[in-house]
Amino acid sequence: MATMEIQAAVVNEEGAEPQLESLELEDEPRPDEVLVRIVSAGVCHTDLSTADNFYGGPPYPQVLGHEGAGVVEAVGAEVDKVEVGDHVAMSYDFCGECPNCLSGKIPYCENLYEHNFLGERLSDGSSPISRDGERVSGCFFAQSSWATHSIANERNVVKVDDDVPLEIVGPLGCGIQTGAGAVMNALEPESGSSLAVFGVGSVGISSVMAAANVSSCTQIVAVDLNGDRLEKAADLGATHTIHPDETEDVVDAIHDITGGGADYSIETTAVPEVLRQAVDCTTIPGECGLIGAAPAGTEVSLDMHTFHFGHKLRGIIEGDAVPELFIPTLLDLWKQDRFPFDEIITHYDFDGIHDAIHDAEEGNTIKPVLNMSSP
Ligand SMILES: [Zn+2]
Ligand SMILES: [Zn+2]
Repeated sequence: MATMEIQAAVVNEEGAEPQLESLELEDEPRPDEVLVRIVSAGVCHTDLSTADNFYGGPPYPQVLGHEGAGVVEAVGAEVDKVEVGDHVAMSYDFCGECPNCLSGKIPYCENLYEHNFLGERLSDGSSPISRDGERVSGCFFAQSSWATHSIANERNVVKVDDDVPLEIVGPLGCGIQTGAGAVMNALEPESGSSLAVFGVGSVGISSVMAAANVSSCTQIVAVDLNGDRLEKAADLGATHTIHPDETEDVVDAIHDITGGGADYSIETTAVPEVLRQAVDCTTIPGECGLIGAAPAGTEVSLDMHTFHFGHKLRGIIEGDAVPELFIPTLLDLWKQDRFPFDEIITHYDFDGIHDAIHDAEEGNTIKPVLNMSSP
């Protein structure tokens, strides 16, 4: 198999920082694959948790990155949805054949884990990436886009307009789609309704923007321990902000602001006590959407008496979004100044990946994006 030399960020063992190294990538995509030169890729908490073996992800060494965007350099023989030179975003992969995929609920694909977290092609267990001939796990979210080049599957590639800067497109494939989709696709708040968002990192702040500019929520309460993020959330549409350390009771405060409880709430932190607050702050019969990804076995307690009064709690994966439909929608909204997601991005050169990760972990930046090359 012919290969090309690439630069990629490699996690060599559990918990290790990704190191930029020269690796080999297969340079001939298989019939259903696409070779993409990466222009940008977001840093998402799912990457960092996978490096720490939080989900039992790909064997080490591994190349992560699951919010990539770039330019198509080659396509497999059976690919007809994109061609060489097209600009693409890469999102999560799915099987396309299970009942949930067939009915359009692809974030709930029965084979979602295998398609995104095994670090291999499901057809034969191979990886397109190697180091001196030794296997390196690729195919993370069918892309492993913390690299100068990536082999993706036709399914998870989304064509985007040439006039959109690829430097900002990467994070639409996961975090930003997740936050915006939770509002626009899942909760679908009525105009004039109220929404409380717990945690305004890149996901939560995308919910805020969607609620303010697309769904016409008129009360949007942002809750976060980081004052800078609260300020940014206020700039981008939050009508009220709550810092839990400066508030006696967050749930009471939201009941006061909304006059009896929020119509909708979104939980992005994966902390059980926060999920409890996100449920308790809703009105009768309010609805809470859970986005934060907690480890298996994490439990939360609810007051069955109050919950009985019509409250709803639902989990939401990837914003209930079909990326091929939703990413172009978000880009149209961006062009119309209705979804200014570029304002939460901080750009880093690829060799600044350690700074990007550090800033993400410290909360110094909302959405770090690595830039591998120019369009
Ligand atoms: Zn499926
Ligand atoms: Zn992600």
